[in-house]
Amino acid sequence: MELLPLNYGNKTLPLKSTPSPKITCFRTIRACSPRQDLKGRTVAVIGLGISGKAAARLALARGASVVGIDQDESLSSLEHDPSFMALNSTGFKTVLGNFDWNLLKDADVVVVSPGVPLEKYGLSYLLQSQGKQVMSELDFAAEALPKSVKILAVTGTNGKSTTVTFAGQMLNHFGIDTFVGGNLGTSLSEAAIQHVTLPAQECKLKVAVVEVSSYQMAIPCVYFRPSVSVVLNLTPDHFERHKTMLDYAEHKCRLFSHMTNAKLGLLSFGNQHLDEAVKKYWNKFNPAWIGAFPGLEIDTEAKIATFKVPDIGIESQLQLGSMRAMGKHNYFNAAVAALSVAGLDVGVHIEDINSTIEKLRPPPHRMQVVHKDIHGVTWVDDSKATNVEATYAGLMGLKGQKSVILLGGLAKVLVGQASNGFEELIEPLTGHRCVITFGASGTMIHQELSDNGLDIPCIQATNLKDAVEQARKMAKHGDAIVLSPACASFDEFRNFEHRGMVFRELALSS
Ligand code: ADP
Repeated sequence: MELLPLNYGNKTLPLKSTPSPKITCFRTIRACSPRQDLKGRTVAVIGLGISGKAAARLALARGASVVGIDQDESLSSLEHDPSFMALNSTGFKTVLGNFDWNLLKDADVVVVSPGVPLEKYGLSYLLQSQGKQVMSELDFAAEALPKSVKILAVTGTNGKSTTVTFAGQMLNHFGIDTFVGGNLGTSLSEAAIQHVTLPAQECKLKVAVVEVSSYQMAIPCVYFRPSVSVVLNLTPDHFERHKTMLDYAEHKCRLFSHMTNAKLGLLSFGNQHLDEAVKKYWNKFNPAWIGAFPGLEIDTEAKIATFKVPDIGIESQLQLGSMRAMGKHNYFNAAVAALSVAGLDVGVHIEDINSTIEKLRPPPHRMQVVHKDIHGVTWVDDSKATNVEATYAGLMGLKGQKSVILLGGLAKVLVGQASNGFEELIEPLTGHRCVITFGASGTMIHQELSDNGLDIPCIQATNLKDAVEQARKMAKHGDAIVLSPACASFDEFRNFEHRGMVFRELALSS
């Protein structure tokens, strides 16, 4: 029978085996070890997406009365959801659509989902209120985790999911019980639910590798105290929430505000906004640069990463030649993951990590080979490249592989700038077979590339299906057809995963 599995990296955390159905499994566990520190208190959770629902269940597991609020009236009430009933359905109420602000005012704790801006529902006012805890889902989860769990937190504009996935794979390789999640996949609250509901001796979790988005850091954390924090890179994105680059950088750098234990902080070298934003935390951690010493540098030709961080006694090298993941950006992701894992001080040294490089696999839709067809064409899904920088990184890694590149969807608008940045792609597109633009921003991308002197053919298609048909006609034996759209997917698809899946289906139908 299926238990309530949690994604602890590649492993599934061994839950208590019992012949009873899911619902009973939780009841049994709760009876063993209730750690109900919120008994008698009321928690309001705003936003009932993946992390909001997990936070609501965590609040129930901690003994609180919980009200879950979401503006979307079309959602179903959660009172009858088995995962809620298993915990305590009577202490839970769902409120959908408009709601009475007193629900927030009267709550002891307000947990805000990352998707909910602080300008809404008087949250900024509540944040200042005495005696009220207004927390992010991340902080609410971290409060319930044992102090012994070391946190590796990763943020940045691009590469977060790949880096946390690599770090999780490395830690799992060495048999260290690791949770991998946060903004990626499973929210941190799920790890905390395990801790709260399982008997203490069954909680073996040693490390939480957490992908963090800037939205998750809108409310400064208090309990979320990483031992290692990483800001991979920072390029224009999310202007709908962050009006300036400095504001975006400041959100990212909040990861460095409450570091604990080993205190290694890794930052992208040479970014003026990050340099400015990190200043106030400078003496709170051992700094290391991605791209300079102290820190790590990569020789992409020799495929070697060199690490020098004297403050934590690291001076070493990593051989990246055996890496199977496509793209040179993955050398950086792997090297950052390796230094972070070594910096956690859990007994893994960089030299040991050499043996894991060949086994590293990025998550799906990141330069993923999805098909090799009978005409000798390789189909590559990089649907996760939702901005120009991600596509740039993907294309740079393709050097030498002649390709048909599919660009399109809904381009991110760069506030206050004359172009949308597609001219940056001229250089990595040079030498390829052709470009095919499609979707809501297809015409604009076509225009921007032509205006900036693109010297390979550029064909305009209507939608992804049409783009694939055109690509099939253009590709020659030995070519790749690469979907690396540099745009969001919402004009045609539910999300980038949906876009990637449709691309794969179209590829396989050849
Ligand atoms: P995130 O979780 O930050 O969105 P992902 O790991 O999912 O990042 O990768 C998204 C896309 O960004 C990939 O498809 C790839 O093209 C690009 N990318 C991955 N790593 C990097 C990096 N280190 N620097 C720049 N771009 C990257």
